[in-house]
Amino acid sequence: MQFKDIKRQTVTANHLTEIIDSGRVSHTQLFLGETASGSLALAIAYAQYLNCEHRQHYDGNGPDGLRADSCGECPSCKKYQQLSHSDLHLYFPYAATSQVKGQGISAADFQGEFREFLNAKHQTGTLDEWYEFMQIENKQGMIRERDADDIVRTLGLKSYEGGGKVAIIWMAEKMNLTTANKILKCLEEPTPNTLIVLVAESTDKMLSTIISRTQLVKIRTISNGFQNVSDEFRSLYVTWMRQLFKLNMASLSAWVDTMNSKSREVQKQFLLFAQESIRDSFLCNNAGLPSQIDFGDEKFNASFPAMITERNIELLNNAFNEAIFAIERNAYGKIAFMELSFRISKALKKR
Ligand SMILES: [Zn+2]
Repeated sequence: MQFKDIKRQTVTANHLTEIIDSGRVSHTQLFLGETASGSLALAIAYAQYLNCEHRQHYDGNGPDGLRADSCGECPSCKKYQQLSHSDLHLYFPYAATSQVKGQGISAADFQGEFREFLNAKHQTGTLDEWYEFMQIENKQGMIRERDADDIVRTLGLKSYEGGGKVAIIWMAEKMNLTTANKILKCLEEPTPNTLIVLVAESTDKMLSTIISRTQLVKIRTISNGFQNVSDEFRSLYVTWMRQLFKLNMASLSAWVDTMNSKSREVQKQFLLFAQESIRDSFLCNNAGLPSQIDFGDEKFNASFPAMITERNIELLNNAFNEAIFAIERNAYGKIAFMELSFRISKALKKR
């Protein structure tokens, strides 16, 4: 996995390549965030970059604003792309299936299946989807003691290919207590040239002693509806923001009529999309990056993020929250959209 193939996580990707380039890689990291938002994909891209023989540096002009990425071509990258690198070790929750059962099962029994799943879902498949893929929907998967033994043994061995050894533990919160304690030993006495990446969606069930020994990387959530948002929403949003920037009353009023003709659910979905877009612009602007969202309008993609700064982001966020609340409470759509428009227009002037 290269960073360029992970959607809308440029800020985190740039943070990760910078950690590696500056030599500040910690032996253990915790990637905290939703798998669907790319946490596992980022962990794999991170390991690939770490072991790449020809890292690419873009001086800020990489795809989607990436500062650097792995080459995708060297022998190490090629094996990483196929998830077949012998120094990449993947661990994940599993349960007995109709074919693989018995006391002695371990993650080793499901490696092929797990890679198939990762490829099928572009490394962003959720835990539920994995259980469905394994056909164990009604069972609870777990990462077992046997897997911890395997991690300790594997990381203690010499690397096969001369580079760093990497163990990625996906859904690390699914380690039982014995497993977690064994892993803890490994974190306390790291073997040189090894990297352990814990990928988790929540730290609620993780040992605090484990969390405290990791370098935390928070993965930003990308809302689901957002990836599949319609062209109509994109175009409505671009038109709206342009009108508000210049506050053209005649065209704004026509725009509000268009929105008012839609169902409440559509109105609400649109507002959620617009609010998320504003947040995204703010994050990109703060990091000096172009927008992560393609609005189908190059000029808008490039110039709009600069309008959202720390001086107006909160005003905008509050205005959206109140408008969404009003729509949910059956307020008159025309008034809700008009009022929101004025508030946004005012906020944009404060940038
Ligand atoms: Zn490479």
